[in-house]
Amino acid sequence: MEVELSKPEYPMELAGKVALVTGASRGIGRGIARKLAALGAIVLINYNGSQQKARELAEEIAAAGGQAECIGCDVSDFAACSDMIEQIIKKYSHVDILVNNAGVTRDNLLMRMSEEDYDKVLDINLKGAFNTMRHLSKYFLMQRSGKIVNISSVSGVLGNAGQANYSASKAGLIGLTKSVARELASRGVCVNAVAPGFIDTEMTRALSEKAREAGVAAVPMGRMGSVEDIAETVAFLAGDRANYITGQVICVDGGMAI
Ligand code: NAP
Repeated sequence: MEVELSKPEYPMELAGKVALVTGASRGIGRGIARKLAALGAIVLINYNGSQQKARELAEEIAAAGGQAECIGCDVSDFAACSDMIEQIIKKYSHVDILVNNAGVTRDNLLMRMSEEDYDKVLDINLKGAFNTMRHLSKYFLMQRSGKIVNISSVSGVLGNAGQANYSASKAGLIGLTKSVARELASRGVCVNAVAPGFIDTEMTRALSEKAREAGVAAVPMGRMGSVEDIAETVAFLAGDRANYITGQVICVDGGMAI
């Protein structure tokens, strides 16, 4: 089910805020972009390979009365992230919300995992978040406000057989979140992580039927989560209601990490 773009009960609590969501062309990032737009934010939809999907999303948001723009950039590229941030600052003069959502999996058992697959996952999932935070933090510090939400995973909290690279990247992202939260806290910048459990997206649809069944069996609530479940939590952390929350990891996982 899609995250709705307009709902009469949505207060425009993010009106006028500029939000950059990485990996927003598909899946959870797309849902987060829709939710932030529905709450009034100007959404910058970052994508890497799926330009057409990003464009369609921007058009849908505009058709629903919101504001959105697509920005292509491979988040694992330090220089390209710098260019993306500078381009955004030039146009909008500031950014209020950064959601580091872009992520990939290259699952395999440790004994069979290639160096390339290890590096790829770490480069996108962990270094990608470093890159955007590294280039944006000076603006957050200058404006003395900002919200950063990093999308980790229950795999980073608990570990998961067959996902050594992915778990390492997501656990690393939690460490990165906590350290940056400590560095930026005195300037009113909040940095938190959301750790989704087993969420219905292309990433999990690519799993075998057996793996999906095993995934659901590990969820105390007995069902997969939705993109909406994650988008709601991110929207809360990105808004003023979460002004006194920083350095936290919120597991949105139906109880997997209990
Ligand atoms: P998805 O459906 O596979 O979508 C991944 C998104 O990341 C796409 O929009 C993709 O954009 C983008 N992306 C990949 N590489 C990129 C790069 N180098 N630069 C910029 N964007 C890039 O995955 P998802 O399930 O929505 O997952 C989103 C996030 O949630 C990930 O960080 C994932 O680890 C995390 N998560 C997911 C689950 C789950 O159960 N689904 C559970 C826990 C955590 P393009 O197509 O444009 O390249």
